[in-house]
Amino acid sequence: MAGEPQADCLFCKIVAGDIPATVVRETATTLAFRDVNPQAPSHVLVIPKAHYPDAAALAAAEPAVAADVLREAGQVAADEKVEDDGYRIVFNTGAGAGQTVFHAHAHVLGGRGLQWPPG
Ligand code: AMP
Repeated sequence: MAGEPQADCLFCKIVAGDIPATVVRETATTLAFRDVNPQAPSHVLVIPKAHYPDAAALAAAEPAVAADVLREAGQVAADEKVEDDGYRIVFNTGAGAGQTVFHAHAHVLGGRGLQWPPG
């Protein structure tokens, strides 16, 4: 069923507590944890606890949870004190765009200059 945990999904395993993560925020619907391979001084992933393959699928099925993810991304930026200098929220979507984990997630990146356009 849509949104149900997937046995072969890394981020579902983190939600379940089967794989450890450095959790920085948690709500009823979302989890935020540090990326294991940070691309900026501050690099946190915000995920819905429910499994959807990407951000668009999440927004189509559960728009309120998609909004929760975005709100939490803003809270992470505030907690990380990167709000004033600016930060980036990235949803890589599809393998061609660099998506490697097919459970929706927002990258929250900050703490350094961020080029535009991104690579
Ligand atoms: P993406 O490439 O956009 O799908 O992003 C997946 C992200 O998950 C990458 O930035 C990885 O470094 C990160 N990642 C992979 N495994 C873990 C893990 N066990 N804990 C935290 N982050 C992870």
